Amino acid sequence: MTAIQDFQAHIAELSDLLCAISVLKWDARTQMPHGGAETRGYQLATLSRLAQEHFISDKTARLLDAAETAIAGEAADSYLVRGVQQTRQYYEIIGKLPLELVSEKAALEPVSEGVWAEAKKNNDFASFAPYLQQQVDLARRQADAIGYSEHPFDALVFEYEPSMTAAKLRVLFDGLKVGLLPLLRAIVAKSQPLEKNLWTREYPLERQKAFGLEIAQRFGYDLNRGRLDIAPHPFEISFTRQDVRITTRYQPNYFPMALYGTLHETGHALYEQGVDPALTRTALTIDFLGKYPVGGTSYGVHESQSRLWENQIGRSRAFWNAHFDRFQHHFPDVSADVDPEFMYRAVNRVQPSLIRVEADEVTYNLHIMLRVEIELGLMDGSIKVNDLPEIWNAKMGEYLGVTPPDDARGVLQDIHWSGGGFGSFPGYTVGNVMSAQFLDAARRDVGALDDSLAAGDYAPLLGWLTENIYRHGRAFSGSELLIRSTGADLTVEPYLNYLRAKFTDLYGLA
Ligand code: ZN
Repeated sequence: MTAIQDFQAHIAELSDLLCAISVLKWDARTQMPHGGAETRGYQLATLSRLAQEHFISDKTARLLDAAETAIAGEAADSYLVRGVQQTRQYYEIIGKLPLELVSEKAALEPVSEGVWAEAKKNNDFASFAPYLQQQVDLARRQADAIGYSEHPFDALVFEYEPSMTAAKLRVLFDGLKVGLLPLLRAIVAKSQPLEKNLWTREYPLERQKAFGLEIAQRFGYDLNRGRLDIAPHPFEISFTRQDVRITTRYQPNYFPMALYGTLHETGHALYEQGVDPALTRTALTIDFLGKYPVGGTSYGVHESQSRLWENQIGRSRAFWNAHFDRFQHHFPDVSADVDPEFMYRAVNRVQPSLIRVEADEVTYNLHIMLRVEIELGLMDGSIKVNDLPEIWNAKMGEYLGVTPPDDARGVLQDIHWSGGGFGSFPGYTVGNVMSAQFLDAARRDVGALDDSLAAGDYAPLLGWLTENIYRHGRAFSGSELLIRSTGADLTVEPYLNYLRAKFTDLYGLA
């Protein structure tokens, strides 16, 4: 075999180990009985150790040296070169992480997530606090091991959004606040209740699932390579492009939770299913740091896709005009007195609220800013775990004007910290901002894109996204993808323009 073939075969085995870990994580979050948490922790720790030993080894060093020699003269942006370069980059980063830190993290994750789920159910932050403290300590040890120049958060956010730092995020957030806060104030001043309350009606769960899956397939989600399950905190996960799973959750009266949860995760899944088959089991579909989703280049780019399909498509007037007949088909008893325009208005209500995942497009990023500021404080030591409920509630009051009645709807609402996922939240806001840039570029490049969207035909949009983003896997950074496909790096103006246009119209603002 050639040096490149030897290298690829070695990386393919690493891919297999990492995908097996992801299958166990999917199982822990969707199927596993509570009692399985501790032994699952051992299983994940063992597999994580094997994966790390496979990767951080003399063999990898030897194969990598040979592969680097073999790619000399290849185009700098070819998949082959990018794969070897990224392998080298992560080889050096992971080499800095002590083995015992990695297995401690892997063992703590399912236990801590189990405790969080119980604590949330029982509204009992005190029972979760010691586990959260352990996660904070592990994250700080990790940041110290990897190294950073300005803020420990920089080492953590790198895992999710390599081009972001604490300093860049502060600039991004400032730009957003200037646009969002006046818009939110104008909307709140104009807000009136809808004439009919849709969320006291009954939406049978089986029909919610059928409607959501029908739309997901219209968007392009391939069920031969996917499935939908229930999870308390919805997510998408993939074990190569051939098996890309999504989850959602259901409420009997409030169908947007399940529908938009499904469409959000479908956006992630379209990205993973759209990766070039040639990249399967290569360095460009591996998250070397053991996060997921595996095939996308960063959290921010991934969120740009989930938010694009969920909001810019799923919450558009065109969407409800195109699919209202299917909504009536699935829910004949509750849809007789509404029309597409009413549905469009109903799913776009702006209301400062307690829960991030249910937040509207205008307030969503304020929820993210709150969390990122808390993470920055936890990492530099200016915020203590035991003070979190109080700090959380104070910030909710300051940004959104609401106060959580309990910690279950406050500091305990998100799963991320229980899994040690510090640094992932900025990806949501980065993704929102990117999504508007990508959609603007698709409109520029694809003839009559809005006509096909109005007809419920998503193939032209999916084609553009696949060509410009999905197929590349992790070959290009978020910043590179933006510049290659839109001509500009990350900028807030297209996103703010989108929000202003949509909500000025919806709320009749001047
Ligand atoms: Zn998402």
